[in-house]
Amino acid sequence: QGGENNEGGYACYSEEMNRNTLDLLRIETGLLHAFEYNELLLYYQPKVDMQTLAITGAEALVRWQHPERGLLLPGEFIPIAEETGLIVQLSDWVLDAVCRQARAWKDAGLPPIRIALNVTAREFTRSLPDRVGAALERHMLSGEWLELEITESMLMHSTDRVISIMEKICGLGITVSLDDFGTGYSSLSYLKRFPINTLKIDRSFTMGIPDDTNDCAIASAIIGIAKQLRHKVIAEGVEDEKQFNFLREAGCNELQGYIFSRPVPAPDFHAMLLEGRKLALESASASQA
Ligand code: C2E
Ligand code: MG
Ligand code: MG
Ligand code: MG
Repeated sequence: QGGENNEGGYACYSEEMNRNTLDLLRIETGLLHAFEYNELLLYYQPKVDMQTLAITGAEALVRWQHPERGLLLPGEFIPIAEETGLIVQLSDWVLDAVCRQARAWKDAGLPPIRIALNVTAREFTRSLPDRVGAALERHMLSGEWLELEITESMLMHSTDRVISIMEKICGLGITVSLDDFGTGYSSLSYLKRFPINTLKIDRSFTMGIPDDTNDCAIASAIIGIAKQLRHKVIAEGVEDEKQFNFLREAGCNELQGYIFSRPVPAPDFHAMLLEGRKLALESASASQA
């Protein structure tokens, strides 16, 4: 192995395949270490009501405090966790950690607030309702504390099985949102068949608002579908006031994005809730000044 000081030279003639295999092994070993040494943690990104401008919930996003590489984002290890099967262990950890945190907030006297977690295709099986139900019981929580974010691809196959999974989840009082909506394999017919609460407009569409007319049209169409089907609709990746204004006028209910907050550690999110923090709009403060 080349070692640290040789990296530049190594990268020049190494084959993509070899490097990927090495990365994969290194991350796989590291992940096992991460479970053992508690290196995984959750950040929370607020979801905000576009009318009241107040926090309505949060999405839990996993991070890995790597001993050498610093704080890693999920893009750097979730795909490898999926390839190696470690995603099962990781998902169990996330579910338990979210419930433990919710329980702590409940014990601190907070009213129920929904914490969303991302579910991978692999977890979306019959055992999902049981696993989630057991986690709620373990932490003595009601389902109103949880939301599951799933993707369109999970709704494609064997409809009856999927409907029964989703009905069990709903039966627990948990809500379900369709993440990255519009980027997957979309067949609109499933929208009316499955008990879904929320459509989540993908960041790739939000990004183009208001200049890209296609992105604006797609976002508006998604909002229209959500309204017609009586689903809630939230936009992810909202960064500026132009996007905010367009989406609010189009009838979008909530937002998640840097315009309000990046994902933050649990104590920071708790502080935002306690201070009743609201979205501060530049135009509003300008007109008041
Ligand atoms: P996602 O579920 O679509 O989560 C939203 C991602 O967009 C997050 O990235 C968030 O930090 C980012 N984001 C939110 N608002 C903005 C914004 O205004 N601007 C920009 N540039 N980005 C914004 P993150 O945390 O890196 O997560 C990436 C993906 O990793 C997630 O996409 C989700 O698919 C996956 N993921 C994260 N946590 C978990 C987990 O616990 N389990 C599983 N299975 N997947 C997870
Ligand atoms: Mg998500
Ligand atoms: Mg998303
Ligand atoms: Mg996304």
